[in-house]
Amino acid sequence: MSEAAVLDDPARILLVEDSETQALELRLLLEASGFSVERCPTAEAALDRLNGSLPDLVVADYHLPGMNGDELTRQMRLSLRTRALPVLMLTGARDGERQGLESGADAYVAKSDDRDLLVLRIRALLRERKAAPPVSEAPGAAGFRRGRVLVIDGSATYRTFLAGLLGQEGHAVAVAEGAEAALAALDAGPEPFDCVTLDLLSPSYDGLALCRAVDERRGAGVGGAGFHLVGISGSAPGKDFLVRAYAAGADDVVAKADAEVLALRVRGLVRRRLLEEDDRRIAGAFGARERAVERARAEAEAAAARARLADALEQANADLATANRRLTEAQAKLVQAAKMASLGELVAGIAHEINNPLAFILAHQGTVERLLGEMPPQPEEKSARVLAKARDRVGTMRMGLTRIQDLVLNLRKFSRLDEGERALVNVPEAIETVLALLQHKLGARIAVERDFAGRPEIRCTPALLNQVVMNILANAADAMPEGGTIRIGTRSTEETDEIRISDTGPGIPEPLREKIFEPFFTTKPVGSGTGLGLAIAYSVVQAHSGMLSVETAPGGGACFVIGIPRQAASA
Ligand code: ADP
Repeated sequence: MSEAAVLDDPARILLVEDSETQALELRLLLEASGFSVERCPTAEAALDRLNGSLPDLVVADYHLPGMNGDELTRQMRLSLRTRALPVLMLTGARDGERQGLESGADAYVAKSDDRDLLVLRIRALLRERKAAPPVSEAPGAAGFRRGRVLVIDGSATYRTFLAGLLGQEGHAVAVAEGAEAALAALDAGPEPFDCVTLDLLSPSYDGLALCRAVDERRGAGVGGAGFHLVGISGSAPGKDFLVRAYAAGADDVVAKADAEVLALRVRGLVRRRLLEEDDRRIAGAFGARERAVERARAEAEAAAARARLADALEQANADLATANRRLTEAQAKLVQAAKMASLGELVAGIAHEINNPLAFILAHQGTVERLLGEMPPQPEEKSARVLAKARDRVGTMRMGLTRIQDLVLNLRKFSRLDEGERALVNVPEAIETVLALLQHKLGARIAVERDFAGRPEIRCTPALLNQVVMNILANAADAMPEGGTIRIGTRSTEETDEIRISDTGPGIPEPLREKIFEPFFTTKPVGSGTGLGLAIAYSVVQAHSGMLSVETAPGGGACFVIGIPRQAASA
């Protein structure tokens, strides 16, 4: 018998043996036969050990200190994990054999028996286990079923007796009187057999040859792959016969005279086979359930991932939209700032160019006016008329020149030529001063409401409150010729100070909102507006790193918002 085959993947045997010397002897024997052996000295220790990874087979001494071998087997049969594990009982006496079988051990060997037989039995048990057929996972396969046994015996009397005995045990029994009928029964199917008993010594056929033929059928998966093949021998068969019977494929050899032992043996084998089948079905059902749970979990995870992705995409889209809006706003502000800056330079240049000739024209105009004033009254009527006309024209020139001077002053302010130093300014006080200066423009027709809730003092140039607030308030007054209300409010946050000035005038149409800050943009009649008021206000606010914007006031009027960053303001 070749041991090489088992060396590759040695079968693991749990040996339960209390005697140190016998344990050592058995271990050496089994290891020499290619098995890997682990030993426990008691049944209790073995049960503990079985909580870990399972061996392929348990070889247990019947007589153990504490729990006996049969009790160990019974305990093993109670657990789903271990109930189909093959158990080989080592017995000392004839009585012990029966006890071993009744307790559910799959085979027994007397300790006094030949050691080769022990190895043969172990191999047969392991072979049965390996050859177990696959179990259908179909729901119909889950029901209880009877064990199916084929009795092959040349003697009609014994055949009938054995069939009756096994029938009483609850098995479904088929019979065959010879080789032909036996092989036909195996080939016929469709129900596979769990156990086949074969009279090895029948005079009507060659028992060992038929045993080999049946074993071949079994190897080919015919007639119920992995059925147990029990050979029936004469009483007390010799070692040679046993070796030949096992070599022919018998898993077990039982003496014909001991029919009761044979029935017990068949019962044990069939029971274990049904248990194994049940275990595989349970494992299959668990597997199917686990796979279903796994699939459901995977699907749920995929759905959650999809949802997360959708959320992330939505969020990303929203972020993108926000970023786009901010970018557009920033671009608009940049364009506006660049436009103002280039206009500022242009205006500064023009103002400078006008200012110089204006200065000497004004000086000469003053001189001419003074000289004309020093002229003595003319006696001649014509001379007197010319002099009067010259005085009048020079006076008119002065008016025109003063207007140009004002314009140049405004241009210089716009181009920040006169920026001024920053100082701590009391906001309510400064606003009240501006209101007092504008009193002539506001008159009684315009009411002013104040709501100063912001920080009373901010650090800024005087122009911020004088020029900016003044220009905005003057425009508000212009926008309400029939009268109305101006509301001035201040607010402060951690980062900014804000002044809001709103009116109850007609408001500013959307398309004009960007234009109004451009220099020289005006809708006022020629001669009354320069279009510089808001341009100046804008550049002053910008010099504070702030923002001047216009909104629609609650009543539909214009609402100008001056926002000054606190840090810049307090710089
Ligand atoms: P000006 O006052 O010389 O026209 P501004 O730059 O101060 O120049 O104002 C530009 C234009 O903005 C005004 O001509 C007017 O059309 C519009 N505007 C300014 N303030 C208001 C307001 N409170 N209500 C309606 N329109 C306004």
